[in-house]
Amino acid sequence: MFKKILVANRGEIALRVQRACRELGIKAVMVYSEADREAKYVKLAEEAVCIGPAPSAQSYLNMPAIISAAEVTDAEAIHPGYGFLSENADFAERVEKSGFQFIGPTPESIRMMGDKVSAKQAMIKAGVPCVPGSEGELPDNPAEIRRIAKTVGYPVIIKAAGGGGGRGMRVVHTEAALVNAVQMTKAEALAAFGNGAVYMEKFLQDPRHVEIQILADKYKNAVYLGERDCSMQRRHQKVMEEAPAPGIPRKLIEKIGERCAAACKKIGYRGAGTFEFLYENGEFYFIEMNTRVQVEHPVTELITGVDIVKTQIMVAAGEKLPFTQRDIVLRGHAIECRVNAEDPYNFMPSPGRITLWHPPGGPGVRVDSHVYNNYFVPSNYDSMIGKIIVHADTREMALARMRSALGEMVVEGIKTNIPLHRDLLVDAKFMAGGTNIHYLEEWLAHHKR
Ligand code: ADP
Repeated sequence: MFKKILVANRGEIALRVQRACRELGIKAVMVYSEADREAKYVKLAEEAVCIGPAPSAQSYLNMPAIISAAEVTDAEAIHPGYGFLSENADFAERVEKSGFQFIGPTPESIRMMGDKVSAKQAMIKAGVPCVPGSEGELPDNPAEIRRIAKTVGYPVIIKAAGGGGGRGMRVVHTEAALVNAVQMTKAEALAAFGNGAVYMEKFLQDPRHVEIQILADKYKNAVYLGERDCSMQRRHQKVMEEAPAPGIPRKLIEKIGERCAAACKKIGYRGAGTFEFLYENGEFYFIEMNTRVQVEHPVTELITGVDIVKTQIMVAAGEKLPFTQRDIVLRGHAIECRVNAEDPYNFMPSPGRITLWHPPGGPGVRVDSHVYNNYFVPSNYDSMIGKIIVHADTREMALARMRSALGEMVVEGIKTNIPLHRDLLVDAKFMAGGTNIHYLEEWLAHHKR
């Protein structure tokens, strides 16, 4: 096992990894930007290294600064968290070339999954069901593009191979709009991601977002840890997540989960990963794979009892997965609410000093946050400041527990989206379960609060 790990991230996930290290008896080196100097997880770290000024480009995305921090502290491995450099294949490669273990998959796996065209091709080969669409990248020839769209059937969605974060996508309803839309998406993709390749998929009308968590080791053992429903989204950003996904037959989840685990073995995947699917009319369609730990990993931890972050570290150190598929038993229901420093009505970021932070507690309530009384939320980063996660025997009880938890919670000094969560938790359709990816935006449009 490693003796020392460098945590190349900030905020709640940096603290999450620090906690996992402590439990494993590993020293965690925290890196921080000048904006995070005062954070408690930095102050309470065994070791901490400043890697630059507040802007991410000069700190949390600064590869040479992070690698030299690992060198000066004699760390053996680097945990990238999520966001920032976590899905950057060049970073993973530089980490390994510098003699450190990257806590994540190989650079080749990251590269393959980072390009959505090659990811989809690998999944088709591995028998994972995908959204019907073009076979690979779209050609330039307009007649050929029209022919492909006709076969796929309108409406279609044009997506950038290198896209991410919900950007680089365009829905097309008619042949008249097709070629222009492809050209515009290509130009935008080239400007935004440095890769002009685009592909086409059938546009699904009212799908749910359901994803499968997997864990794999270097010895081609892979297990799936059930699914998460992340359909509650605004602008393709997840707001609330739950596990299991309401109303989907277990047999179907098992079939898809087994395919995902088999795909991991086939491509030699190691570490934690998520297969994201759209689910519509009883069918799963793969859209992309995330090659890192996800924000919503705690709901899976609560229903499986598996510590995903600790397992990531163990398999990166060369250990075998400490469980097999048969050991994975799902228990109860878990829900996560992301707490964002933002206006709950117009979603404007609300950074600044938190004058009072009173988190909830009690049975089945977990708070993953680096925030405390008098903490200053910097304006330089993502607005998420923590997550409230609850676990109970049934979905109904988990909803009640979350309502109670958010009722206890007090945050003063900044605005948060907690009022939005409180409203959603008493919404009849959400409470019934199984709302689709458009539900939240439609709900917001009809609830001018
Ligand atoms: P990103 O990497 O940018 O998050 P994804 O491929 O995961 O891109 O897609 C993001 C979101 O876009 C999905 O969660 C879904 O809301 C929508 N989307 C993507 N592909 C389709 C599709 N074929 N049909 C309908 N919606 C889609």
